[in-house]
Amino acid sequence: MKPIANPTPDTQAWFDLIDQGRLTVPRCLDCGDTFLYPRMCCPACGSRSVELTPASGRGIVDSFVVNHRGPAAFAGEAPYVLALVRLEEGPRMMANVVVDDPARVGVDLPVAVTFEQRGERKVVQFVPAEVQ
Ligand SMILES: [Zn+2]
Repeated sequence: MKPIANPTPDTQAWFDLIDQGRLTVPRCLDCGDTFLYPRMCCPACGSRSVELTPASGRGIVDSFVVNHRGPAAFAGEAPYVLALVRLEEGPRMMANVVVDDPARVGVDLPVAVTFEQRGERKVVQFVPAEVQ
């Protein structure tokens, strides 16, 4: 079975919203910084006034790799794309970009969020933006 998130106290609320199909970004209420991964303290100013704000779900591919031989649970999906996606809100996150042909993926490709159901959890993925 493919892996699912194992949330920590810092990331539990963020993953719970993902399970509802909602992508959010932590934002500092004192300095306005947005960041990922989710944590209770702002990495820019140290404030503990942090809230989860809705993300647009849109971003661009900053970097990516095409895996031709994935670990066991992913072997049947190779080749597949693992990308560093920069969200419109600023933070970057690593996720799969789901495409029929990995050659479609390149740096600066606009992407939109989608969610894969894995057991009881959802997993954030992206698709080329024109697909949605
Ligand atoms: Zn801050």
